[in-house]
Amino acid sequence: MRLQRRLPCGEAVPALGQGTWNLGDDPARRGEEIAALRQGLDLGLTLIDTAEMYGDGRAEQLVGEAIAGRRGEVFLVSKVYPHNASARAMPRSCEASLRRLGVETIDLYLLHWPGSVPLAETVEAFEALRRAGKIRHFGVSNFDARAMQQLWRTPGGQAAQANQVLYHLGERGIEWDLLPWQREHALPVMAYSPFDQGRLLRHRALAACAQRHGLAPAQAALAWLLAQDGVVAIPKSGSAERVRQNAAARDRPLPDGLRAELDRLFAPPDGPTPLTML
Ligand code: NDP
Repeated sequence: MRLQRRLPCGEAVPALGQGTWNLGDDPARRGEEIAALRQGLDLGLTLIDTAEMYGDGRAEQLVGEAIAGRRGEVFLVSKVYPHNASARAMPRSCEASLRRLGVETIDLYLLHWPGSVPLAETVEAFEALRRAGKIRHFGVSNFDARAMQQLWRTPGGQAAQANQVLYHLGERGIEWDLLPWQREHALPVMAYSPFDQGRLLRHRALAACAQRHGLAPAQAALAWLLAQDGVVAIPKSGSAERVRQNAAARDRPLPDGLRAELDRLFAPPDGPTPLTML
């Protein structure tokens, strides 16, 4: 099943993509990691998320190698450091990312987290890159509900196409305010660290209830995210076998019984919670 989400511009993107943080850090695993990303592409996990920050550009370089000859299949997301999100620095950062990725355009370019450059300047810099054909869309990351409202008040800010935030079973705070706000504005939430960087998968009760439904813990965690309207999940794996396991989470909608069990194990928020950032 190829679940998709729609960006505000109308374009569809896969609801399940691939993260790349820490990929490319270990030269001995490079081949395996490239094969894992390519396996993901074969299975339709064609949204790839990376950032200039990851391994000081090593992740972007590895992505470039993995997508060589397959650019047309990929929806490429990268991120600019907040200190590079100015009119002067952003074009340089973007050029460097494009060079490492070996592409002419980034599909979605995100501000990695809120910083000290005025948002209006960042939005203008994104727009200039868009006009120049260097990026197709822009968005933000690690913006809480207040920051999103501020973005919406910024001239041009409403052209943002996504907000990427920490969201997984163990971290449900955004369900109180940010997720409803984004749904109201038809703006997808890109859920990062869907396995809490692997920690969630060692949760014994999660493993037990996933197993009762014939799922691996990673599949239960992803099926739960994919059952949420407007949410895109970007798990990272450097192993082709685990990428296959993750991709299979799309094949079975979240069983009602499992949803109820997960709600008991990982309670939704009962009030506003500050947005956590990794
Ligand atoms: P994840 O929650 O995706 O967890 C990754 C870990 O889970 C790795 O150790 C991986 O190991 C393991 N794993 C993956 N699949 C399985 C499986 N089926 N079974 C068992 N273990 C598995 O962590 P990330 O922090 O990497 O988050 C995903 C992506 O989100 C990042 O890579 C990045 O692209 C983005 N991100 C964005 C942030 C932001 O500020 N905007 C912050 C953090 C992440 P292995 O690789 O060995 O399979």
